[in-house]
Amino acid sequence: MKYVGAHVSASGGVENAPLNARNIGARAFALFTKNQRQWHAKPLTEKSIEAFKANLAEVGIAPEHVLPHDSYLINLGHPEQEGIQKSRDAFIDEMQRCEQLGLKLLNFHPGAHLTKITEEQSLDRVAESINIALDATTNVVAVIENTAGQGTTLGYTFEHLAHIIDKVEDKSRVGVCLDTCHTFTAGYDMRTSDTCEQTFAEFERIVGFEFLSGMHLNDSKPELGSRVDRHESLGKGKLGLEVFRYIMNDDRFDDIPLILETIDSDIWAGEIRLLYSFQG
Ligand SMILES: [Zn+2]
Ligand SMILES: [Zn+2]
Repeated sequence: MKYVGAHVSASGGVENAPLNARNIGARAFALFTKNQRQWHAKPLTEKSIEAFKANLAEVGIAPEHVLPHDSYLINLGHPEQEGIQKSRDAFIDEMQRCEQLGLKLLNFHPGAHLTKITEEQSLDRVAESINIALDATTNVVAVIENTAGQGTTLGYTFEHLAHIIDKVEDKSRVGVCLDTCHTFTAGYDMRTSDTCEQTFAEFERIVGFEFLSGMHLNDSKPELGSRVDRHESLGKGKLGLEVFRYIMNDDRFDDIPLILETIDSDIWAGEIRLLYSFQG
């Protein structure tokens, strides 16, 4: 079974996100549990937590099909003491918010080395950050998103993801989210079923589908290998529709949240219908 949705708004309170998901016919969704551009947030209120759980049950979406995304400010591979401490504290807070909401996953970008340390040293720091966060919490899975490799960001190769996972102590609480736009602009072709076959075989060999905890379904404005992160609506970019047809018909993508982060939220309902129409 495929669980398709989008990264919906939580404005006015996290409890609105499940309702926004229902309005576009989603069976899964992503959200920010706090303002993604600020370090600090007020704790979730008991009222908001209860309303979120009630709305989730009402719309019939399972907690494991919700893929919260952390703040863009957090850099778990930060080269400097102050920066990494601030990031680790904020990440633990994000994980605890997920736990309060009864959610199982937290999606994040691994980080950036800022040219002050090597990629490998920065990747080691990411793994250490995950270990610290897992120790401080009880059941949320840290879901590493692959990136386009823009600037000094980490996570643009499958090897980077494997490097981090290798150093995480509790393998049952680490996962991966592949963003189709990031994968493509990082240099992995997926424009035909043959290239999808190759790219996902490489993912299986280097990381392993047992770690795949979610997907972000985005077309790409930039070209293959451009290392630029710019999403596009499905079928309107350089990636094209074939990869989405492939994903919707491959059972390795069953039972995980498949989340649109495409640029025009007005057509998400149509994009969700389009994706389901590819099945069978
Ligand atoms: Zn992301
Ligand atoms: Zn993404």
